[in-house]
Amino acid sequence: MSRLSRQKTALILGITGQDGSYLAELLLGKGYNVHGVVRRASMFNRSRIEHLRAGAGRNRLTLHYSDLTDHTSLRRIVQKVAPREVYHLAGQSHVGLSFEIPEVTSEENATATLALLEILRDLAQPVRFYHAASSELFGAPDRAPQDESTPVNPVNPYGCAKAFAAQMCRVYRQAYGLFAVNGIAYNHESPRRGENFVTRKISLGAARIAAGQQKEIVLGNLDAKRDWGWAPEFVEVMWRSLQAGTARDYIFATGRATAVRDFAAAAFAELGLRLKFSGKGRAEIARRTDTGAIVLRVDPKFYRPIESTTLVGDARLARRKLGWQPATVGTDVARQMVRADFSALKA
Ligand code: NDP
Ligand code: GDP
Repeated sequence: MSRLSRQKTALILGITGQDGSYLAELLLGKGYNVHGVVRRASMFNRSRIEHLRAGAGRNRLTLHYSDLTDHTSLRRIVQKVAPREVYHLAGQSHVGLSFEIPEVTSEENATATLALLEILRDLAQPVRFYHAASSELFGAPDRAPQDESTPVNPVNPYGCAKAFAAQMCRVYRQAYGLFAVNGIAYNHESPRRGENFVTRKISLGAARIAAGQQKEIVLGNLDAKRDWGWAPEFVEVMWRSLQAGTARDYIFATGRATAVRDFAAAAFAELGLRLKFSGKGRAEIARRTDTGAIVLRVDPKFYRPIESTTLVGDARLARRKLGWQPATVGTDVARQMVRADFSALKA
């Protein structure tokens, strides 16, 4: 492989996911040869990248079968592809579910990251590694907003696994000089978000209710707040972080937290439905003001055993070093998501 083509060769783990699919789009648009790892599934699992397989960059997109738990095949792929950039965006990404499947969460998010670091450590040629770390590292932080120096204090199995992986990236950076970046990303959403995350549950539910296809949405804690940004803007900064002169950790966040209740109200309002909330906590409901019908209800089964406290990030380092400033924030995200879901229902 020529030096020039290696410069523009990237491997994406998690290419079929929300972020991986947007990143693949971005890199193909920049002229990269993009290699993606996909795993075997009993049903089609490539809907988010299907358009890329038919698009202008299709000849520069190659998919490889592997799994985060199959370290031998991952090593073989990395050696064969010889990427200059590796984006590790794969794993069990659902915090709530990590309480149900903590061992899988740990194997995929912690152990597999270590295995990847070991594979890269053995490579002869230099490589740049992006690790999708998470605000869940902070869990119950002692300050808000959090920055790169905030102490780690995860409160769920997902956060614990990400904390281990992020620390291992730092160790490999310091011990072996590996160009390893931890992107400590706060929640970022899009119409490609998995349907069991609260934002997508709301946008899809509101769109279906407006289209007369569903009666109500059932949610958990409406008081929970998140720093919600826009996934396409986040993959842009992931790429920028690997073009920088130095590898380091960055916070990627909008700096504003929005409550689940306000996100839902904005999503419904975008479709012309105003909500009136009543009741408290686990008994809260919301009715449409025009018909009085209940369209949102709380069910305690969606509450978590422990909730991360207000996670809101200070991304000044990313702004200073990478020139990154997210534009789509909180309720803007709700409006864009619900519009996309509503249009898709009408199509
Ligand atoms: P998704 O859940 O949308 O995508 C996860 C990807 O990982 C999918 O491609 C999935 O494949 C793949 N994957 C899961 N398990 C395995 C496995 N055992 N072997 C191979 N591939 C696997 O996540 P996002 O795109 O939203 O997030 C990307 C990364 O960023 C994740 O690590 C997530 O934890 C982290 N993160 C995300 C945030 C967010 O708000 N989105 C915030 C902070 C961190 P398949 O399609 O087959 O399921
Ligand atoms: P997370 O921040 O990565 O856990 O993203 P989620 O979208 O799964 O959850 C964001 C917040 O929404 C958490 O504080 C949840 O407790 C809260 N939440 C409230 N209702 C729901 C729900 O029905 N599903 C999910 N997934 N989260 C909910």
